[in-house]
Amino acid sequence: MKKGKFIVISGPSGVGKDTICDELVKSGIGVYSVSMTTREIRKGEVDGKDYFFVTKDVFEDKIKNNYFLEYAIYNNNYYGTPIEFVENTTNNGINVFAILEINGAINVKKIFKDAILIFIMPPSLDELEKRLRGRKLDSDEVINERLDIAKSEISSRDKYDYIVINNSVDEAVKEIISIIKK
Ligand code: 5GP
Repeated sequence: MKKGKFIVISGPSGVGKDTICDELVKSGIGVYSVSMTTREIRKGEVDGKDYFFVTKDVFEDKIKNNYFLEYAIYNNNYYGTPIEFVENTTNNGINVFAILEINGAINVKKIFKDAILIFIMPPSLDELEKRLRGRKLDSDEVINERLDIAKSEISSRDKYDYIVINNSVDEAVKEIISIIKK
C-alpha cells in the first residue's frame, strides 16, 4: 500500500492556518494529528479534539518516554506531536496534517524525511495584525508578542518545501491539494 504523507503546516498566528486545514480535512484528503500541550484550554476548545491538554509534569514524562515525534516550547508552553498516530495513520495510506510552530516543523524533517513542509504567508503584516485583533481571542500584550513571533517566523520561511500565500482560503486549499497530489 502507498504510504500516506505527513503534511506540516506553519505560518504566523492569525494567518488562517486553521481555516485552511479544516477545509483540507473536510475535503477528505487527510486527517488531523492531535497535539499535546500544557497551555490553558481556551473557550470552545475540546480536550482530545483540539489538543490533549496536560500538565507540565505529564508532558515532561512523555518526553522521556519518546512519545513525541517532535515537541517545542511556544509562549512558555510545551506543544508536541504524538508519534504513534502519525506513523500508524500514514502506514495505512492516510495523509496526516499537523499545524506546528517553526522549530518543531523543522525538527520533523530530521525524523520524517518525506514530510512536506508548507509555510502559509499572510498577504501582508498589516493584514495579519487586523486578523489577530479581529478575532478577539488574545489580549493586546499577547497580540504584540504574536506579531513579534510572526516577524521572526516569516524570516524562516525558506526552510520550508513550499510557501503558500493566503489571499483566499479557497485558492490556498487548492494549491495545497495540488502539492499533496504531486
Ligand atoms: P495555539 O496556542 O495558538 O493553539 O498554538 C500555538 C502554536 O503552537 C501554533 O503555532 C501551533 O501551530 C503550534 N503547535 C501546535 N501543536 C504543536 C505541536 O505539536 N508541535 C509544535 N512544535 N507546535 C505546535
